[in-house]
Amino acid sequence: MKGTVIIVKDIKEIRVAIDGPSGAGKSTIAKRIAAKTGLVYVDTGALYRTVGLYAYERGISQDDCAAIVACLSEIDIKLAYENGVQKVYLCGKDVGDSIRTPAASMYASAVSKLPPVREFLLKLQKDLAKKGGVIMDGRDIGTVIIPDAELKVFMTATPEARARRRFIELEEKGMAQPYDEVLRDIVERDREDREREASPCVPAEDAVNFVNDDYGIEESADYIIGLMKNL
Ligand code: C5P
Repeated sequence: MKGTVIIVKDIKEIRVAIDGPSGAGKSTIAKRIAAKTGLVYVDTGALYRTVGLYAYERGISQDDCAAIVACLSEIDIKLAYENGVQKVYLCGKDVGDSIRTPAASMYASAVSKLPPVREFLLKLQKDLAKKGGVIMDGRDIGTVIIPDAELKVFMTATPEARARRRFIELEEKGMAQPYDEVLRDIVERDREDREREASPCVPAEDAVNFVNDDYGIEESADYIIGLMKNL
C-alpha cells in the first residue's frame, strides 16, 4: 500500500496515564495491568505522600506553605523497582507503609497544592515516563506529565464505593479507621484535589472516562487492557 504508514506500537512500549480521585482503585488496577502486560507501574501519589511525610515528621503545619517549600531543598527522593514493586527512598531510607497513614494522606493532599512541590517532582516523573513501557497513576498524568500518552483513562467511582474500598484496605493493613471518617476524608480530599489551582484532578480532553462502581479489579484491568489492544 503506497503512502500509508501504519505504526503499531508494541503494547510493552506504550505509556498509559491513569488519573482520578483517591480510592477509585487506580493503583490496584494499574498494578494488575502491569502484572498482566509487563508495563512498569509508577505510583506518583507515593511521591507526594513522601514529601508530605517529611513535612509531617518535621512537625511543620499543613498550612505553613513557606516552611513546606523551604524543606524541599533537604528532600532527596529516589525510586527503585524491586521485583516489579516500587520502593521510595527518602534521604536514603525506604519509606515503606509509613506514607499510607491517614496523616500522611492529608499532608500529601496539602503539599500537592503547592506549585513548587509539583515542580520539584515534575522532572522525576517525566523521566520515568520517557522510556515508555509504563502505566502511571496520579491526578495530572494525562494533563501534565504525559500529555501525549498513547492511552489516558480517567477512573472514578462514587465516594461511598471508594470509601468502602479504602476502609477495607486500611483494615487489612492493620490501620483500621471508622468508615465515616474514611468517607469524610475522601470527600474532603476530592474537593481539595479538584478545586486547587495547580494541576487540578480533572480528566484530560482525550481521556476515556471509566466509572467502575460495578466493576471488580480483574474486570477493570481487562477493560483497560482491551483499550490498549485497540489503540
Ligand atoms: O494517589 P494517592 O492517594 O496516593 O495520592 C496522594 C495525594 O497526592 C492525593 O490526595 C493528591 O492530592 C496528590 N497527588 C497529586 N498528583 C499526583 C498524585 C497524587 O496531586 N499525580
